[in-house]
Amino acid sequence: LPTDAHPGSAPYLTLRHIDQFFGQFQALKDISLSISEGEFICFLGPSGCGKTTLLRIIAGLDCQSSGELHQAGRDISLLPVSERDFGIVFQSYALFPNLSVADNIAYGLHNRGATAQQRQQRVAELLATIGLSGSEHKYPAQLSGGQQQRIALARALATSPGLLLLDEPLSALDARVRAHLRNEIKSLQAKLGVTTIMVTHDQEEALTMADRIVVMNAGVIEQVGTPQEIYSQPASAFVADFVGQMNFVSGEVLDQHTLKIGGRTLHCHKCRDFSPHAQVRFGIRPEDVRLRGHQDEANRVRGTVTQMEFLGSFMRSRLQVDGLDAPLLADISMNELRDLNIRPGQQLDVTLPAERLHLFSH
Ligand code: ATP
Repeated sequence: LPTDAHPGSAPYLTLRHIDQFFGQFQALKDISLSISEGEFICFLGPSGCGKTTLLRIIAGLDCQSSGELHQAGRDISLLPVSERDFGIVFQSYALFPNLSVADNIAYGLHNRGATAQQRQQRVAELLATIGLSGSEHKYPAQLSGGQQQRIALARALATSPGLLLLDEPLSALDARVRAHLRNEIKSLQAKLGVTTIMVTHDQEEALTMADRIVVMNAGVIEQVGTPQEIYSQPASAFVADFVGQMNFVSGEVLDQHTLKIGGRTLHCHKCRDFSPHAQVRFGIRPEDVRLRGHQDEANRVRGTVTQMEFLGSFMRSRLQVDGLDAPLLADISMNELRDLNIRPGQQLDVTLPAERLHLFSH
């Protein structure tokens, strides 16, 4: 499979040609993926792209219409939930409100023949791991959202599953708690080494937590890669637009090095991947647009600043560039801005570095 993280070593989880139909509607289309042991994978995509559907199939909560799943060398395609090896955390904490923290965490241990003492010990161990020692006798209603989600995590890990599934576990929490828990989950996962799949529609969450991101759109996988690969080498315009910001302009490839947009030509390294006269979408990230000197004289265009937006550590300016019908966004750090003294209405030279230009076929 093309998506193997460590070619040579046997993958821990393999999905082969998974399709899922709901009546006539196809929610997943030919999904193939391999995941190595210990990896932290994020399924990232907009609402309705099929990420939860795929997670539910991996858990066995739904059965795929066709395709196979293998986990730790065994075919789990048709295995019932109870015989699969995973722990799961949902967006809504889904703790039992009438059970104490200890009973919530130990829930899955009851039917595994653990003695009361073993359960107590395991609960204490897990509470220490998530930083909530001493809360055994509390009830979910006495805990904050973030604490409840940590308990849900402890419950999912209680049986030491080989696979941890997280379905938007942070999205019900406020921004501060979310950022904090993001770090906690990440370091806990690294410490335990448990293979983890997290569903999220939040690009920042995926970029900061994942070893590899699976970007999904309308039931298909658009790209699988490390956060750096997804960001700096997006495989499609969809990925470029969904992860980070990108300016898009229609253009035509002239030859191996040259691109035509809006009546002007630009040098572009990616042109060699296309045949002459190919109609393309040209893209550049706002932070790659240079508002100050750059050696790439060939790709210098004249623009007018129409708007400036302060975004904390950087300024996003909107530029009207001669020959382009759409405005171009350019980000500049506040440090650089100090020396440049840019104002709305100002005309300036803008460089679009040849090595920073992306080309997409649609
Ligand atoms: P969200 O973040 O909104 O949950 P998602 O990417 O997780 O989005 P899914 O929940 O996997 O998306 O849904 C994928 C598509 O399948 C959607 O169009 C959804 O309406 C449809 N779908 C999901 N479950 C069912 C079902 N049981 N019956 C019919 N259609 C369904």
